[in-house]
Amino acid sequence: MNVLLGFLAGAVLWTFGEYTIHRFAFHEARGRNYGSKEHLRHHARRDYTLWNNWPAWLGVLAVGLGLWRWAAHDLLGLSWPAAWAVGAGWVVAYAHYEWLHMACHLWAPRTRYGAFVRRHHFHHHFGEPLRNHGVTTPFWDVAFGTYTPVERVVVPRRMAMRWLLDDAGEVRPELRSSYEVRGRAPLVEDEELQRAFANEAPVLA
Ligand SMILES: [Zn+2]
Ligand SMILES: [Zn+2]
Repeated sequence: MNVLLGFLAGAVLWTFGEYTIHRFAFHEARGRNYGSKEHLRHHARRDYTLWNNWPAWLGVLAVGLGLWRWAAHDLLGLSWPAAWAVGAGWVVAYAHYEWLHMACHLWAPRTRYGAFVRRHHFHHHFGEPLRNHGVTTPFWDVAFGTYTPVERVVVPRRMAMRWLLDDAGEVRPELRSSYEVRGRAPLVEDEELQRAFANEAPVLA
């Protein structure tokens, strides 16, 4: 029982990490650290790349299986199995986040949750980069007042996810109630980077 609760606590702790790291360490740092640079480059690109995220994996493993496991055992007095479970919950929830974020960029939604997560995240990309920081859950956005409910996302055509468009370059019919693409401007990498590093949304020209 304690092992299960520990695992769940670790997973919930990750969702808090997901929000705070993304908001403060990546966006509000405006490129002043490695993770921030890599993340803001992700905002400036059309295609999703499994960006050099081995440092993120190392950090997540070290914090989960080192720091949180130690804190759960030594500070909170949990048994070793329960303390390991906290670390494991953190790591597994992180892996789920990485997978879901990639899925948002690469594949069309298939469930209501998948559709919600994509609207939430793509509003962050193309509407307001300083809002909707959570990817797996909007909970911490609601708690910290950065939640914008999203019915419809307007996407600059030059940055549109490939799953969004048909062969003619228009939004697939089944996705038109949630997405619109605008503009014909080509992607100029330097300009996109400048805006991304200033936390400005891409222009819709
Ligand atoms: Zn993204
Ligand atoms: Zn972001």
